[in-house]
Amino acid sequence: MRRIVSSSVLLAAVAFGLGDLHAQPAAPPAIVVLRAARLIDGTGAAPLAPAMVRIENERIAAVARELTVPAGAQVIDLGDATLLPGLIDLHTHLTGDERVHWEDALLKTTPAHDALWGARNARVTLMAGFTTCRDMGPTWPFTDVALRNAINEGLVPGPRLVVAGNYVSSTGGAGDARQFSPYVDVPIVRNLADGPDEVVKAVRTNLKQGADFIKILATGAVLSKGISPGAQQYSDAEIQAAVTEARRWGRSVAAHAHGADGIKAAIRAGVRTVDHGSYLDDEAIALIKATNRGTFYAPTLYTSAAIERPDSPVPESERVRSRQVSAIKDAGFRRALAAGIPIGFATDAMVIPHGQNAREFGERARLGEPAMASIVSATSLNAEILRLQNQIGSITVGKLADLIAVPGDPLRDIRLMERVRFVMKGGVVFRHDPEK
Ligand SMILES: [Zn+2]
Repeated sequence: MRRIVSSSVLLAAVAFGLGDLHAQPAAPPAIVVLRAARLIDGTGAAPLAPAMVRIENERIAAVARELTVPAGAQVIDLGDATLLPGLIDLHTHLTGDERVHWEDALLKTTPAHDALWGARNARVTLMAGFTTCRDMGPTWPFTDVALRNAINEGLVPGPRLVVAGNYVSSTGGAGDARQFSPYVDVPIVRNLADGPDEVVKAVRTNLKQGADFIKILATGAVLSKGISPGAQQYSDAEIQAAVTEARRWGRSVAAHAHGADGIKAAIRAGVRTVDHGSYLDDEAIALIKATNRGTFYAPTLYTSAAIERPDSPVPESERVRSRQVSAIKDAGFRRALAAGIPIGFATDAMVIPHGQNAREFGERARLGEPAMASIVSATSLNAEILRLQNQIGSITVGKLADLIAVPGDPLRDIRLMERVRFVMKGGVVFRHDPEK
């Protein structure tokens, strides 16, 4: 891996994180011109071939088949490659060590362990072409806030992060670690919230401590002992309390939800995303449609295969449950595809190895999604879901210069998305592999 950073551009990019997207650097404009065999802009429009993109400082200044190169500009010729917007993953756990089961992590790791692994995982994920991630909650509360801030300050390379800070879970719910003796004091268990009042308190606490959005566990999980993934765990009133309080702060709620009742309760309450959404049925799809792009479905399909890898820390009892849910969630995805609802792009990285996020594309292709739709999902649609569509998600003049390149044409073979060899984030080149 080579990291190529022009110092003036780096300073500009470092100074302006997500919190200050409109600021202008004082330095004279640094101009980079990219050239590639083709470009997919993320909006669903037909590819441009050949393509050139001019970047001034951290933003996209021009996109065309042919551009004149200004004097002093750096030209990067990517050859037979396809330029795409930086990819966006709606569901990662970047501070999680993929080798450790999350309940073991509570007893055997420290926040320092997760901070260091978070830095490692953030770099690996960025190098895989994911320039923005919504991080769905750490083992140790608020380590994701620290990671987000370190990335924004340029201390460690990583995606732009939108972070949950901490799970909001019920007692005995999917965010509760249930195998411990009641005499074992596990700090995370102290953060459980029951009843609308405690949920409001948890929401306020997370936002106070720097969370960008609220993650609630509406139903059981595949990877939690003794809890049926299908069971609704937060009542309608508790979910509604989370959404109402988050809205007061101008923030959204993401609901971990597998079972149909929990999915529907979350949609009715007005969450932004239903994550996993395994038991998505026709009624849930109709409810999502009725929100008119207010609530989105964000499946995580590759998890089933990833859990079966030999070095996965997931025990056999949970693998069995994962296998039971696998065909059901595939059917839910096919149902959503047939109904034509927008489908967000998410992976649950940590359950899958960090950096393998693009394998989700292959799963969606296996279930019948056209390559262009998958690319739109991971770019402009996800930007809309995060309400960052004015800044990221497409190769459009004025947006932040988050661009990646893959060899060949991913519309012919979507698995080429797993072979990212160029990554630019905010005008800074973080990866540029030589052509073989
Ligand atoms: Zn997750």
